Amino acid sequence: MYVLGIKTENITTATKAVFKGLQPDTEIDNVSIDSRSLQNNSGTLFFALQGQNKDGHVFISELINKGVSNFVVTNIPKAAEGKANFFVVDDTQKALQDFATYYRQLFNFPFIAVTGSNGKTIVKEWLNYLLSPDYDIIRSPKSYNSQIGVPLSVIGINQKHNLGVFEAGISTINEMEKLENIIRPTIGVLTNIGTAHDEGFASREEKITEKLKLFKNTDVVILQKNEAVENLLPEKAKTFTWNYEGESGADVTITPKKEKGNTLLQVNYKQPFEVTIPFTDDTFIENAINCLMVLLHFNYDAKTISQRLATLYPIELRLQIKNGINNCTVIDDSYSSDYQSLKIALDFLEQQKTHQKKTVILSDIFQSGFDTDELYLKVRQLLTDNNITRVIGIGETITKQLADFPNFYPYKTTQEFLAQFNPNGYQDETILLKGARSFRFEEILVLLEDKTHETVLEINLTALIHNLNFYRSRLKPNTKTMGMVKAFGYGSGSYEIAKALSHHKIDYLGVAFSDEGVALRNAGINTAIIVMNPEMSAFSAMIAYKLEPEIYSINELQAFLNIARKKNLSEYPIHIKLDTGMHRLGFEENQLEELISLLHNNNFVSVKSIFSHLSASDDGQFSDFTHHQIDLFEKWSTRLMEALQINPIRHILNTSGIYNYPEAQYDMVRIGIGLYGVGNDAEETKRLEKIGTLKTTILQIKEITAGESVGYSRNFMATEKIKIATIPVGYADGIARAWSKQGYVSIKGKKAPVTGNICMDMMMVDVTNIDCKEGDSVEVFGKNPSVIDIAKAINTIPYEVLTGISQRVKRVFYKE
Ligand SMILES: *Cc1c(COP(=O)(O)O)cnc(C)c1O
Repeated sequence: MYVLGIKTENITTATKAVFKGLQPDTEIDNVSIDSRSLQNNSGTLFFALQGQNKDGHVFISELINKGVSNFVVTNIPKAAEGKANFFVVDDTQKALQDFATYYRQLFNFPFIAVTGSNGKTIVKEWLNYLLSPDYDIIRSPKSYNSQIGVPLSVIGINQKHNLGVFEAGISTINEMEKLENIIRPTIGVLTNIGTAHDEGFASREEKITEKLKLFKNTDVVILQKNEAVENLLPEKAKTFTWNYEGESGADVTITPKKEKGNTLLQVNYKQPFEVTIPFTDDTFIENAINCLMVLLHFNYDAKTISQRLATLYPIELRLQIKNGINNCTVIDDSYSSDYQSLKIALDFLEQQKTHQKKTVILSDIFQSGFDTDELYLKVRQLLTDNNITRVIGIGETITKQLADFPNFYPYKTTQEFLAQFNPNGYQDETILLKGARSFRFEEILVLLEDKTHETVLEINLTALIHNLNFYRSRLKPNTKTMGMVKAFGYGSGSYEIAKALSHHKIDYLGVAFSDEGVALRNAGINTAIIVMNPEMSAFSAMIAYKLEPEIYSINELQAFLNIARKKNLSEYPIHIKLDTGMHRLGFEENQLEELISLLHNNNFVSVKSIFSHLSASDDGQFSDFTHHQIDLFEKWSTRLMEALQINPIRHILNTSGIYNYPEAQYDMVRIGIGLYGVGNDAEETKRLEKIGTLKTTILQIKEITAGESVGYSRNFMATEKIKIATIPVGYADGIARAWSKQGYVSIKGKKAPVTGNICMDMMMVDVTNIDCKEGDSVEVFGKNPSVIDIAKAINTIPYEVLTGISQRVKRVFYKE
C-alpha cells in the first residue's frame, strides 16, 4: 500500500513504539505485511504480523537483504539486530491499526463506510463507479474489509483524493469500534441485515448493535426503513431511509417494475422520477437502491442519477484465472483500473508461479489521485519491481507516458489492438488483463481465452495452504509436518503442490517412488523428500538427487548399505519403517535385533526418523487396535533409540490420526488427504476447503421426446420431452462408469442428472430445467457434487476418485 512520506517520529508516536535503530530520521512511503511482495523496497515499513500459523518476524532477515530497512516488531530477531530500524510494540496488528488511524486523520474529506450482511463489496464498487466522474476516490480494494484489510486500505489515501468509500466487515464483537476508529466515516450505508445471527454473536441484536457502531460519528446513515434496527443506532446518528411502496414512513419510496432483463424504479422523493437499472435480481435491485440513496444525499439531479444507474454492471469480486491459448494463464481484472488495484493485481500475478514469463495488458489509469506524470512514474516503478517481461499499453495517455519503457507495446485503442492481434504472440506465460471499464477488455479476453472444449481440474492452492494451516493449528507448536504428495499429489499435481507446501515451510515431502522425487528435484524443490517405496534399482539415482529412502526390511537395508559403502557416503539420512499392524511394509519385532546390529556404529547412514503407519485411524470401532499399534511403536522405537543411542524424529499419524489420536503426534505428522480437502468426518471436512474443481463445457444440446433413448445400451429412456447436454468428460478421464446411476453435474448452480451410461470420453446430462447453452461451463465435481459425494455413491473412498483423474485432464493452478 502507498503512503505519503511519513517520518520515523510520526510512526513512533502513532504506534506508541520504542524506536531502536540506525537512522531515526528516515522517511517511509510504502507499507507492507507480505514478505513475498516484489514491491517491498527501501521506503517500505514492514509490519511483522503474527498469525495463527505464520509469523512475519521469520522473514525479517530475508527482507533486510532485499533492502527493506524499517520494521514494526514485537521483538527484534537476533540475526537482525543493528541492521535496520525497529519499532518495537506489544502487538503488531494493533500497531498497524493505530498507524492507519493516525494516517487517516491527516485528511479531511467525506468518507462513506458500507457495512451489512451482504452486498458490501458490490455497493462499494458501484458507488466508486457512479461517483468517479466527479471525485478522486480512494476505496478499499477488492473486499479488504477486515481488521487488517481496512487499515491497509486507509493507508492508500493521498493528498489528491477527495472522497473515500470503504467497506467494513466483522465476525465477532468488539471489532467494529476499531474499524470505526480507523475509517472515521462521515456517511454510513447499511446494505441489509440478515435474519440469522452468526457464530461469534450471542444474538441477532448483539450482531446488529455491533455493526451499527460503525456509524457512531456519521452525519447520516442510509438504510432501508426498519424501526427495530433504527432503535439500535448510536444516539446521535441521523438517518436517510428508503422503502418499497406500501411500507410507510421512509424518506424515499421506491416502486420497482421488472421487465425483460431491466427493472424500472419509480422513485418518490421531492420530485418523483424514474430510473431503469439493467438487472431483475432482487439483491441487485436492493444494492442499486442503496447507491441511488447516496446519490440523492449528494444532491445529484434525477437526470444524472438515471443516466448513471442505467450503466451499472455486475462485478466480479475476485480476480479470475482463465485457461489461456497456447498454454497461457490469463488473470482477468478487466473492470477497473486504478493504482491501488493495479498494485494488488501485480502481487497476485507474482503469486501465480505457473509460468516464468509475465505480460501485463494495461489501459490508461484513472482516479489515481496523482498528477499524470507522477502516476506513470509510479506505474513504471511497479512494473519494474514486479519483473514484468512485457507491457502492452492501450490508451492515449499510457502510450505516451511509457513510450520508452523496455519491452513496451503501445496501442492507441482497444480496437487497434484487436485488429493487430496475433495469437502466436502469446505462449507459456501469465497474462494480466487490467483495464478500465470503458476500454472493453472483455473483447481481448475472448481472444486470449482457450475456447477448446477442454476439461480442466482447477486447483486452488490458497485452499491447500488453508488446509495445511488447519492441521497445524491442531498440533503442538513444535510438531513437524510432512506433506504427502505421492501419486501426483493425490491427483492434484505434484510440482505445484510441492512448491506451495515448501513455500509454507513444510518440513518433509513424501512421495511413493523415486522418479516422483527426481521430478520434484528437477523442478527446483529443495525440501527434504522421503521415498516411501524405494526400488533398490533406483538407489543410485536417489542418492544423486538427495532423496531419503524409507528402509523397511533387512534385505533392503543391506542393499542400501552396499551402495553407501561403495559411494563412501557419510551419515546419509534414512527412515526406519516399523510394521505395527498394517502388514504392508516395515520391520517386525523379531527383526529389531538384526536391524540394530546392522546399524550399530555404522557411519554410512544416519537414522533421521523412525515411523509406522496406522491401518484404521479413521474408524473409532478399531480404537483398541490403534492404541495397540501406538503402544508397539512407542516400545519398539524406544528400543531402537536406546540401543543405537540416537534421537530421531518419530512419526505415526496420518490425516485422520491427527484428528483422532493427537496425543500420538510425536515429533512429526504425515498429512495426505486432509490437504486435499477431505477430512476424517463431515464435521472436520466442513472446516477444510475444497481444492479441486473439475470443469468442462457443454458440447451440444438436444431435445428428445418420450420413447427415445440416450447413450450406449439404451440404458435411459425418456418418458417425456427433455433437453440433454453432452459434455466431454467420461470414464477415461476418471469419472467412474458406476457413477452413471446416481450421478449429476452442476450447470449454472443447478443439478443436471447423468442420463444413460457414462461413455469413455463423454456423458449426457439432463438440462431440461436449466437455462443453458452450448459452450456454458459445467462443474463435474467440486462443491456439488463433491469428491466425497461421488465416492459414497460408487462405494469407494475419496482417495480413489482423486487419484483416478486421468493425466490427460489438464491441471490449472491458482491462488486467491
Ligand atoms: C499416504 C500415506 C500417508 C497419508 O495418509 P492420509 O490418510 O492421506 O493422510 C501417511 N503415511 C504413509 C506411510 C502413507 O503412505
